[in-house]
Amino acid sequence: MSVVRTNILEMPGYVPGEQPQGGTFIKINTNECPYPPSPRLERACFEALKKGLNRYPDPMGTQFRNEAAKLFDLPVDYFMVGNGSDDILTILTRTFVGEGEVLRLPYPSYILYKSLAQLQGAQSEEIHFDENWRLTPKFSEAAPNLKLAYLPNPNSPSGTVVSREEILAIAEALPCPLVIDEAYADFSDFNCVDLVLQNKNIIVTRTLSKSYGLAGLRFGFVVAHPDWIAQFIKVKDSYNCDALSIAVATEALKDREWFNSTIAKIKNTRARMDSELREIGFETTPSHANFIWCTHPEWDLKRIYLELKSQNIFVRYMVYDQWSLGNGAGLRISVGSDPEMDVVLERIREFF
Ligand SMILES: *Cc1c(COP(=O)(O)O)cnc(C)c1O
Repeated sequence: MSVVRTNILEMPGYVPGEQPQGGTFIKINTNECPYPPSPRLERACFEALKKGLNRYPDPMGTQFRNEAAKLFDLPVDYFMVGNGSDDILTILTRTFVGEGEVLRLPYPSYILYKSLAQLQGAQSEEIHFDENWRLTPKFSEAAPNLKLAYLPNPNSPSGTVVSREEILAIAEALPCPLVIDEAYADFSDFNCVDLVLQNKNIIVTRTLSKSYGLAGLRFGFVVAHPDWIAQFIKVKDSYNCDALSIAVATEALKDREWFNSTIAKIKNTRARMDSELREIGFETTPSHANFIWCTHPEWDLKRIYLELKSQNIFVRYMVYDQWSLGNGAGLRISVGSDPEMDVVLERIREFF
């Protein structure tokens, strides 16, 4: 084992949510979309397959980039595609953070950032949210060797947001780039994509896994100043997205009707879920994402999680036990379809 780098030996590795295969269950533990993707994708996929897969794909995914540039009204050279946004996050970390250097992230938030720092042999610096999921001034302070800061917005597991004004102020204060991970921004009332024009140090990442119902496709992208994109291109795998996924993702971006109606359905269900969960007795955090963070001062949430699991209902039970300022044990429940939520709420009611 001594031939393995020490940082790899010592890191625990990122553990994704359970992905049960086969059988029937209600899966509301990894914030996937409960609805099938746009029916237009089948044809796009088939057309790409018919063109043949004997040649390598377009390294830059030009079709997708063009479509994204139109959608966000930015020049094409502000975009780069990735094999899921986790691929993009890996590329950004490798570009900016070297061994012994520092990567900043809020806590509690997306646990993967810490694993990415560990892969680099870098330090991660967790800045704790206050008890209302607000950032403290510490997040904006300079620090020796600080090379990159991550901010998921909306945040996971809370579903809370930091305002555009605050993000601009943070970017101005920080001595390094600030990555806004917008995995859930399509469920929010605002996003920060256009801020890349106002401050070069703002970099925005996106995924098609959640709001486009394409977690199984693996497709994401980054929006950043072309000077940064030029560096990321050197770091990424040459062919990080395959020909089928580029074709399908491009068509998904084009079908605005599917997208708008899906987002509307999820927001509706989210509002209903929130009021019913409160009625049952949970404390919920107002969500700008496709999941709801539920806590309770007394109940044993792990028991609820296990009870639901025994009935083939998968929610995420999370414990952020290092959180000095708030209650870090909770259930993160993804917004499923209405019939799924009926069953889940009914089961939880039975439990009490
Ligand atoms: C789901 C998620 C991602 C990863 O998305 P993929 O494109 O599926 O890799 C990134 N960031 C956050 C905060 C997420 O919740």
